[in-house]
Amino acid sequence: MNTAQKHLHKVELKAKEYKSDIPVVWCGGCGHHGVLTGLLRALSELGVDPNYLVNVSGIGCSSRLPYFVHSYKMHTLHGRAGAVATGVQLARPDLAVVVTGGDGDGFSIGGGHMPHLARKNINMTYVLMDNHIYGLTKGQVSPSSRKEMKAYTTPYGGVDDPMDPVLYMLTYGASYVGQAFAGNVRMVTQLIKDGMEHKGFSFINVLSQCPTFNQIDTAAYFKGVVNDAVNEHDVTDRDAAMHVVNMALREGRMPTGLLYKNARPTLDERMAALVEHVGGSPDYDLRKIIDLSRP
Ligand code: SF4
Ligand code: MG
Repeated sequence: MNTAQKHLHKVELKAKEYKSDIPVVWCGGCGHHGVLTGLLRALSELGVDPNYLVNVSGIGCSSRLPYFVHSYKMHTLHGRAGAVATGVQLARPDLAVVVTGGDGDGFSIGGGHMPHLARKNINMTYVLMDNHIYGLTKGQVSPSSRKEMKAYTTPYGGVDDPMDPVLYMLTYGASYVGQAFAGNVRMVTQLIKDGMEHKGFSFINVLSQCPTFNQIDTAAYFKGVVNDAVNEHDVTDRDAAMHVVNMALREGRMPTGLLYKNARPTLDERMAALVEHVGGSPDYDLRKIIDLSRP
């Protein structure tokens, strides 16, 4: 393991052994099935010990994912998964922390948290299932919806330009950024695996169709616009990664694969260094500090 890799507690389990007993409730054809399969395979290939794994989510169809995974889990408030996961990671830096959620949850309700997860380089993996719609609440436009999207809230089409999640996270300094199509489970697995091994904030945007409420960003549409041939650029060069994404967007395409990866100190490492610098114990226990404020 090199210093840019996260320490993971390991066991040997098959992918199906990471599946909980709770039945998957997503609609047939939903892209989220591919993301779940990819996550279970990634956990198995990495050999992550479920006793040291926490899966945090907010609200939405995709935020149900932790129920289906054999791990500790927190199903939190709408948009707040990243903030809760930050607390988990700082209190227990020895755990593997994975956030799973959707485009509305992450970039609308939770949009204020995303820049800070990235710039602070919090040691976690955020898998965003981007279906360009709110699915659980039965079809409203989300921040990544195309303008021509007709939904319950926009019967004549939208008025807002969509945002691009990967460009956004690159801009705010995420230290690992990748994108995949949910139908390409092999790529989803590889990116989650690589992202979980990366020490720092890893963001993986998965283009995940919602056949029930989004009739324009279908699986066939995503399959047609993804551009897997982007890894010719230097993935440690953020400007190059942003150029690749901008050029693809200009051509109406979506770049997939690993777009950017560059290690830098994580928030828990910087905090530990600060504690040491001011003469505190490097083994400070955040739980004891919290206990001081209890009545
Ligand atoms: Fe998936 Fe859409 Fe069904 Fe939700 S409503 S489970 S996002 S297909
Ligand atoms: Mg969504």
